[in-house]
Amino acid sequence: MMVSDVKSPGHLIVLVGPAGVGKSTISRKLAEKMHLKYIVSATTRKRTPKDAEGKIYEFLEPEAFFKKLENGEFLEYASVWDEYYGTPKHPTLDYLRAGEDVLLEIDVQGALQVRFQYPDALMIFVMPPDEQALLQRLRERGRDTEESIQKRFRGAKREIWMAKGSRAFDDMIFNDDINRAVEEISRLIRQKKSPGGI
Ligand code: 5GP
Repeated sequence: MMVSDVKSPGHLIVLVGPAGVGKSTISRKLAEKMHLKYIVSATTRKRTPKDAEGKIYEFLEPEAFFKKLENGEFLEYASVWDEYYGTPKHPTLDYLRAGEDVLLEIDVQGALQVRFQYPDALMIFVMPPDEQALLQRLRERGRDTEESIQKRFRGAKREIWMAKGSRAFDDMIFNDDINRAVEEISRLIRQKKSPGGI
C-alpha cells in the first residue's frame, strides 16, 4: 500500500534546511508550541558530544540500518555525507492515523520522497539570512575542520538550489530571528489545519 493511500486525519509537517541554519532549535520550539509529535530518525553516523544539544537520533550500526531498510521500515531515507538517515514509518504513520500532527526534520532528498508519497504534507525550507551568516554558523558549531566547513558550505548551497529548483516546498522561511521564524511557521501550520480560518 502506498503511504498516500492512507487517509489520515493528522497533518505531516516537514522541516528542511541546510546544516547550521538552526533547524533543530526551530523544531524543538515548534513541536512544543504547536503540540507536534517529533519523530526520532535513525542514522548510521556516530554520536558526537554536540548531540546532547541538537537533534535526537536512534544511532544504528550500518547492518541494523540496512535490515530495517530491507524490511520496509522507513518512510524515506537518504545518504548525507556518506552516512544514512531514515524516518521510521512507525510511529510516524500511527500518529497521523490517530489524528496527531507530526514533525519531521530531514534533508532535501528525503523531503522529495515524502512529497511524492504524501502530497498533502506541509513542507517548509528554512533559509539562512545570507551566505555569510551561514558560513559563520557552520564555523561556530566547532565540530569541523576548515576544509570540512567549506565542504558543508558548498553542500548547503546545493541544498538551497535543490529546494528552489524542485518547487517541492510550500514555503521558504528566513531564520534571521528564531522566534519570528517559529511564529511564521506556526501560522503556516494553523492555515494548513484550517484553510480559510483566521
Ligand atoms: P546531522 O548529522 O548534522 O544531525 O544531520 C545531517 C543532515 O541529515 C541534516 O540535514 C538532517 O536534517 C538530515 N537528517 C536527519 N534525520 C534525517 C532523516 O530521518 N531523513 C533524512 N532524509 N535526513 C535526515
